[in-house]
Amino acid sequence: MVVGGGISGLAAAWYLVRTHSEIEVTLLEAAPHVGGKLSVSDLAGIAVDEGAESFVASRPEALRLAREVGLESDLVTPAVFQASVFSRGRIRAMPRGQFMGIPTDLRSLAASEVLSPAGLLRVPLDRVISPTPMGQDVSVGEFISARVGREVVDRLVEPLLGGVYAGRADALSMQATMPALFRELRHDRSLLAATRRVAGGGMEAAGARRGLPFRGIIGGVGRVPGAMAAALVGSGVQIRTRTTVRGLTATETGWDVEVGPASSPEVIHADGVIVATPAAPAARLLADVVPNVALELSGIEAASVAVIALAYRSADFRAHTTGSGLLIPPVEGRMVKAVTYLDQKWGWLNEAAEREGVRLLRVSGNLGWMVHGPRAEAAATYRPTVPPLAEARRTPTIPHGSSALPPWIPTNAACLPAARAARCSAALVTSDTRGSAESSRSRRARFEKKSRRRTDDGTKGLVERTQVALVR
Ligand SMILES: Cc1cc2nc3c(=O)[nH]c(=O)nc-3n(C[C@H](O)[C@H](O)[C@H](O)COP(=O)(O)OP(=O)(O)OC[C@H]3O[C@@H](n4cnc5c(N)ncnc54)[C@H](O)[C@@H]3O)c2cc1C
Repeated sequence: MVVGGGISGLAAAWYLVRTHSEIEVTLLEAAPHVGGKLSVSDLAGIAVDEGAESFVASRPEALRLAREVGLESDLVTPAVFQASVFSRGRIRAMPRGQFMGIPTDLRSLAASEVLSPAGLLRVPLDRVISPTPMGQDVSVGEFISARVGREVVDRLVEPLLGGVYAGRADALSMQATMPALFRELRHDRSLLAATRRVAGGGMEAAGARRGLPFRGIIGGVGRVPGAMAAALVGSGVQIRTRTTVRGLTATETGWDVEVGPASSPEVIHADGVIVATPAAPAARLLADVVPNVALELSGIEAASVAVIALAYRSADFRAHTTGSGLLIPPVEGRMVKAVTYLDQKWGWLNEAAEREGVRLLRVSGNLGWMVHGPRAEAAATYRPTVPPLAEARRTPTIPHGSSALPPWIPTNAACLPAARAARCSAALVTSDTRGSAESSRSRRARFEKKSRRRTDDGTKGLVERTQVALVR
């Protein structure tokens, strides 16, 4: 039994079907459709992603999955991948050679005028000041600020990293968000030198060798869940939508899974359960059955993310836009955090937008911005003279932040080992206990042996890297 039909739950079901064909898999999803945060909606006659719109290509799992579900020919790279930054009151080019906002080319940094003259002069002091303590882990914002000055954090790192990881740079874990750089800094006190080495052999080099490090899908990344669900149903998986799981109870032979309204609950028996919901509902479901994991999950904080896609008639939208979009650091005091020029970033959206005579933008910000009027803010940034023709919203669920992103703050990163430990024993129940009375220790040993043999299976890797917590 898989609880939750987002990409994590679908990937878990996918893995079970491929590796344990003898298991009957049922997937329960609370919403009317599968996909969770991945979905596509119609904007002025054009399909646009409401949630994730691209994924990293440096890991093979998502690419392989797209191939397996028949979307390989629709995989695309961004047409442009260079964002600008709104800094000190103007839109400016992002300095060349930056890595997660940390500059490596000081000439380009100076030419961009993203930093004030004083901020710019502070950067090279990194080479002469004494080492900055890192301990077991350190906050991204505090460390970078100590090495190259606060302006680099406020105007470059914050908009880039904070956008990707949905958290403020001061609260983000350096070890979790920049592991290669974190390791490099163990041997080199200079952030600039370490960053230059990591950037030289890291994402930028990979990008130069193999093309851009991100991929999208024609028609939207939100097509993936539907394609997976169709293939899963074809393989015999039962998918029940509009089915909220309210409770889990361990029994002699497996699990009783309670679904439906409290007034007339339905109980479904399962040999094993995979919980693939966001952290907050997972914590509630697991509170009685694995309290230590539930406690850790309940400590995971979620950041609210509000995203709106806007379509303007081309004739009405006069602003000159270059590159893939614009990042706006919080220090600028605007409610918008980022704008993606969808019709410039993706070739397929460019064709569709030209055909329909519209400009397509995707604007993201925090929840306050969602409440206070994104149109006014977009107007303040771009001065379009008319309201948008159409808009599509991804509205965050406010209670428990369950629709939001868990930022990679140190607590959240530290929680993962416990969830992984729980996962191993859970899969034992899922894979090995059908009618078996063997002890959990011997089952666990057998599972671990089996899973070592399966490490070449791509879908297993995908399951491991998603937010899956498994029971027992
Ligand atoms: C606006 C936005 C933009 C993003 N952009 C990107 C991007 O560009 N690239 C990228 O890689 N990632 C991106 N992400 C992150 C990515 O979308 C998520 O990490 C991923 O989709 C999470 O999938 P999930 O299955 O773990 O969770 P979810 O998608 O949240 O799915 C969980 C599912 O569980 C269901 N559920 C919850 N409780 C119960 C219950 N009790 N019973 C039954 N079902 C239940 C929910 O209804 C939901 O369908 C973005 C996220 C957001 C919000």
